Amino acid sequence: MQEYDAIIIGAGHNGLVCAAYLLKAGYKVLLLEKREIPGGAATTEELMPEDAPGFKFSPCAINHVFIHLGPVVQELELERHGLEYLFCDPVVFCPHPDGSYFLAHRSVEKTCSEIEQFNPRDAKKYAEYIDFWQHIIRLVTPVFNAPPKSIIDIIGNYDISKLKDVFSLTGSTDGTLDLIRSILTSATDQLEEYFDSEFVKAPLARLAGELSSPPSQKTMSIGAMMLALRHHPGMARPKGGTGALTDALVRCVRSLGGEILTDKAIKQILVDGDRAVGVRLTNGEEFRAKRGVISSLDAKRVFLHLMDEKDVDSGLRERVDRRIINRNEAILKIDCALSEAPRFEHHNHRDEYMMGSVLIADSVNQVELAHTDPEIGRIPIDDPSMYSVVPSLLDPTLAPEGRHTLWIEYFVPYQIAGKEGTGMKGTGWTEELKNEVADRVLQKYATYAPNLQNSIIARHIESPPELEDRTGMLGGNYYHLDMTFDQMMCFRPLPEIANYKTPIEGLYLTGAGTHPGGSISGLPGRNCARIFLQEQRSLTQTLSDAGDSIKSVAKSVFGD
Ligand SMILES: Cc1cc2nc3c(=O)[nH]c(=O)nc-3n(C[C@H](O)[C@H](O)[C@H](O)COP(=O)(O)OP(=O)(O)OC[C@H]3O[C@@H](n4cnc5c(N)ncnc54)[C@H](O)[C@@H]3O)c2cc1C
Repeated sequence: MQEYDAIIIGAGHNGLVCAAYLLKAGYKVLLLEKREIPGGAATTEELMPEDAPGFKFSPCAINHVFIHLGPVVQELELERHGLEYLFCDPVVFCPHPDGSYFLAHRSVEKTCSEIEQFNPRDAKKYAEYIDFWQHIIRLVTPVFNAPPKSIIDIIGNYDISKLKDVFSLTGSTDGTLDLIRSILTSATDQLEEYFDSEFVKAPLARLAGELSSPPSQKTMSIGAMMLALRHHPGMARPKGGTGALTDALVRCVRSLGGEILTDKAIKQILVDGDRAVGVRLTNGEEFRAKRGVISSLDAKRVFLHLMDEKDVDSGLRERVDRRIINRNEAILKIDCALSEAPRFEHHNHRDEYMMGSVLIADSVNQVELAHTDPEIGRIPIDDPSMYSVVPSLLDPTLAPEGRHTLWIEYFVPYQIAGKEGTGMKGTGWTEELKNEVADRVLQKYATYAPNLQNSIIARHIESPPELEDRTGMLGGNYYHLDMTFDQMMCFRPLPEIANYKTPIEGLYLTGAGTHPGGSISGLPGRNCARIFLQEQRSLTQTLSDAGDSIKSVAKSVFGD
């Protein structure tokens, strides 16, 4: 039997990133993936080869924002491995029922000019709002780029300009307290404070809610980052679709000698004494690791499904089961092959509207229901709000010449109230229901782009239980675990297992269920690799690394 230094469970982008860093450090690594292809929620596939040949879809992640906050692309030289990012500009378009619209360009100034034609006051406030959130982004980026409990690593990521930034934002004790107050409030409260117009507030609320919470949720004003980030560092898509990121990572891993085996579903993590020593697959095959098993599946799947009860402390099992919260929000995913791109006739149509995200968000209240209904098991079907993209407009390689692709994400419950025990996996979802809901969502879209209905060549609808089956994400949770404030940073997934290590020696966690969380960033993979490598090093080496880090901070604060 082959023995590896490390086995990584799951070849999603975080598993691949983690593998690449370990390989670079000279370790022998095996990745085991349950699907027939690597990538997890970062793939591009021909979803309808018979009805729509030549159309390529990214069935999960489409817009890459967070990856540009870290050094993964550069450090792993992914461009050399074939990755090419196409940046979106404009970044967001949202038509409003009264004929106005929100159009955000990468440039804040240009965005303000767009807002100004409908509301000069809101245009001015927009610049202030984005400036505030850009400061916060600069403040938290060093934290994203380090294990959340590794203070030395975090401090090491700050330099004098970032510290100056913090002071410029707060200025005084009251300024600091007011900053904290802003973070503790909700997106809705903050939007009310800044803006008057619904055509500005509704799309901003929709984007803030992309962190899986209703915009009214206190402590989640941080969701506003989702828009600010689209201005800087920007939002991009790999040429060829999200799967092109995975392809580049696979090439990188293989070029470093890593092994990736697909169609290998792990059934159990093997523990000997107090140490994780390998894995057993569903087909009975076993693989052994000398230095560690790293799971890119979240803590619930690891401790409740992949481990023998006797190998996990009962207190930890209970905390993982009951204290880590996944509410009921999931995604109904709609992918369409189109004969022509949507035309926003009532809004002075320009093709550039579709370069970034196209949001259907008529009011803050509609967006609120888009989240609160799913939480209590209801489908917010009366007036659907949605997030969509026409990926082929920025990247024509995704569809046959002159044709287009449409990507829609619509929040729905995983478990439908009153339908427990029926339909797919007992969730209440059926083929008929998912198609009915998709019809309604597309009808709503067509109120803005009337040519849509006649341009659909074929469509692929995936309900939450189907998404769960394909990706393994529990309850179809698109971030593995909810991204609420109490489950972020050193609380993700629980304080005692937040630094990628677990009480079982040699067992590590990475992936969206760890800091800094879901989305395409590669940072959970990179941070976890850092902890794994620190664990392998001698104490002297670790202290010397820490010293280097402090020296570099001191240098940036006090100069040479
Ligand atoms: C519909 C949807 C839309 C999204 N849109 C965006 C977006 O536009 N932008 C963005 O930044 N993020 C988006 N996200 C979130 C983002 O895709 C994920 O947070 C991210 O891809 C997670 O990566 P990961 O590597 O941590 O986990 P995963 O991609 O989930 O990888 C885990 C891997 O483990 C494998 N696996 C599972 N169980 C087993 C097992 N027992 N044995 C072996 N292998 C196993 C899975 O098949 C998978 O390959 C979206 C997610 C969804 C679902």
